[in-house]
Amino acid sequence: MTDNKRFFIDGRWVEATSCSERVVVDPATEQPVGSVALAGADHVDRAVAAARRAFESYSRTSREERLALLDRVTACYQVRGADLAAALTREMGAPKWLAEAMHVPLTPVQIASTRQVLERFEFEVESGRTRILREPIGVCAFITPWNWPLNMIVGKVVPALAVGCTMVLKPSELAPSCATIFAEILEAAGVPDGVFNLLHGDGPGAGALLSAHPGVDMVSITGSTRAGSEVARAAAASVKRVHQELGGKSPAIALPSADLATVISAVMPLILLNSGQSCAAPSRLLVPAEHLDAVRAHVLAALAAHEAASAQMPLGPVVSAAQWARIQGLIASALDDGAEFIAGGAGRPEGVERGYYVRPTVVVCSNRTRIAQEEVFGPVLTVVPYRDVEDAIAIANDTPYGLAAYVYGDPAEARRVASRIRAGQVTLNGAAPDLDAPFGGYKQSGNGREWGAYGFHDLLEIKAVTTPGVDDAAT
Ligand code: NAD
Repeated sequence: MTDNKRFFIDGRWVEATSCSERVVVDPATEQPVGSVALAGADHVDRAVAAARRAFESYSRTSREERLALLDRVTACYQVRGADLAAALTREMGAPKWLAEAMHVPLTPVQIASTRQVLERFEFEVESGRTRILREPIGVCAFITPWNWPLNMIVGKVVPALAVGCTMVLKPSELAPSCATIFAEILEAAGVPDGVFNLLHGDGPGAGALLSAHPGVDMVSITGSTRAGSEVARAAAASVKRVHQELGGKSPAIALPSADLATVISAVMPLILLNSGQSCAAPSRLLVPAEHLDAVRAHVLAALAAHEAASAQMPLGPVVSAAQWARIQGLIASALDDGAEFIAGGAGRPEGVERGYYVRPTVVVCSNRTRIAQEEVFGPVLTVVPYRDVEDAIAIANDTPYGLAAYVYGDPAEARRVASRIRAGQVTLNGAAPDLDAPFGGYKQSGNGREWGAYGFHDLLEIKAVTTPGVDDAAT
């Protein structure tokens, strides 16, 4: 059992003595594997006050000091990989292979990318008579989800350390242990007291308190669109900056010029990765209507290839009973809406008696059905047939979300289609992810960007220092 009953405040571990608690459940076994304390107003006030005090000196550290801190974090991270992988498997159900091959190794890549941006980032630029200063915004509250629980933390905390902000992190209450381990890593790396503070807690409690807190200058949430909009409401009275990385319903468009076998063998692993629990997963596959027969055959072939590989690389469960039930509800809605099931369906996979496992499911239906409009966040692909490229673009844009899109086909045509899609990140022809490229959503997928230099800008205030001009030296 792992009990997360300590908070990291002002460089010290504080016992969460007077807090309520919740049980942490292993999604593969449905058994309790630990607990998490839920911070209330007193701990929130203490953590924010510590971050405010630390901001005075940390915001004035040099680029070199902060580069050295990032290097120490990377070094201290290396020895905790096994602990982090075990926590990910236990609490969010990532199979061992996935935790070890993707979740854990991604962190040093994220830090290296941030480090490169910090090395060359211009914190001051000249513009005529005005010098523009880019200064750390202040105390940040970071609220993170359970689906990539470690990497979502790293994606906020490390850039904030790089630009000179101080912070309070509130990770997901469903998978809290990798935040505890990451705090231990930062402590070992010698992060100055109060610069990084960790509070465990839930959304309506610590999450809402941090969002509303007048001592917080910016709140950044990665989570559902529902939670993102509640954070914005709570933040409004104190006029803090609100940064939201929210849900998605991202289309993968197979243009008429695309090779369908190639597209489907690329899209299927992406929607199954992490059991479909990735905000930018291609959850809608848009295909030419006249090629539906070929699509069915390629989907079955891709699923057979996945099944063959699953002895080494099994699909994990989804995170919770609530998430499992939500997905089952959406699968039932597809049946009610007359969708054609190419594969999968309701219930657990054959032979599986316990655990929040979902059958890999592929349905064909209209884009106006619930399963095509709502984020499923499970291993479920919706195939939507289109008439022509104009129709494909209209369908791609026809959801409340705009996080990501994928376009396959003739490169010039794919670029033209990309320019018409209302989404923050468009990947052409299976390009590898670029951690230096800005990441974030249009529409109800959020506001602001993370990653790369754009991620820095969201953590900075802009100050214009204007001088009278050429006579300045004389006055
Ligand atoms: P969630 O919204 O339930 O919780 C996310 C975080 O927000 C948790 O820490 C939770 O405690 C907190 N929270 C919940 N209600 C809150 C409130 N009223 N005030 C303050 N904080 C609150 O989401 P989840 O189920 O943990 O994560 C899944 C969602 O996250 C999906 O919708 C997914 O698409 C999205 N997501 C988005 C991105 C992205 O970068 N756009 C990345 C990963 C996940």
